[in-house]
Amino acid sequence: MRIDVLTLFPQMFEPVLSASIPGRARAAGLVDWFVHDIRDHANNKHNKVDDRPFGGGPGMVMVCQPLWDAVANAESQAPQVGPTTRILLTPQGRPLTQTLVEDLASRPRLLMIAGHYEGVDERVIDALDPLEISIGDYVLSGGELPAMVLIDAIVRLLPGALGHLDSAAQDSFSHQHEEHGRLLDCPHYTRPREWQGREVPEILLSGDHARVDRWRLERMIERTRERRPDLLEADPADSPANPASRPVQPDED
Ligand code: SAM
Repeated sequence: MRIDVLTLFPQMFEPVLSASIPGRARAAGLVDWFVHDIRDHANNKHNKVDDRPFGGGPGMVMVCQPLWDAVANAESQAPQVGPTTRILLTPQGRPLTQTLVEDLASRPRLLMIAGHYEGVDERVIDALDPLEISIGDYVLSGGELPAMVLIDAIVRLLPGALGHLDSAAQDSFSHQHEEHGRLLDCPHYTRPREWQGREVPEILLSGDHARVDRWRLERMIERTRERRPDLLEADPADSPANPASRPVQPDED
């Protein structure tokens, strides 16, 4: 997978993404990311990338030209990789879910745009027609952290990114139970068997794998019912197996 990121703060990415699982996945050749500075594409004397909003009001707006040219430049590189899925990180986008992450993890090439200031001039959004994604109902200063959240969530799903022991299949939102749908993960325990008077549940020490599996599934259902009953009520049609739940892409007819 190839990921191009367009940002005004390219220096934010490497320290975060080079660590842990994304860093290992890149070293293993499963993914590579290329961070482009939108400012490098400004065609004015002072490399200006923002301007005051028409109609007045506070803040600045990212202008069309540098972003448009930055996208064209990134997409002209390595065209053999496959069609690009363009993504704009915005609090007004489709809420990010594990289902959407799974969908994006199957695509050969992603291009992520991190906004800043009040956001991006609407005309360049219309022209680029990206998939707009929000990482939650709150507002951050820029799209860099949301882009890194998205990259981390995607990369850990690439085959080979996780070792067998930390397989993603049992994680929250990933376990697709045929009756209950997507569940939260069960509680986990490790050594010592007793800590500050608190014991590990006896069944986990029994060596009976079938009983342990049953116990874990019961805990997953119980936790989901307690903490996220909305998941149990979710429409099973919102599954990656259902083509209707996939986001419509600009490069798809
Ligand atoms: N005025 C915009 C609005 O209210 O929708 C918010 C702009 S925000 C200060 C600046 C940039 O941060 C956005 O263009 C977007 O790229 C990013 N951003 C902020 N919150 C986000 C979120 N919850 N999800 C994804 N991106 C976000």
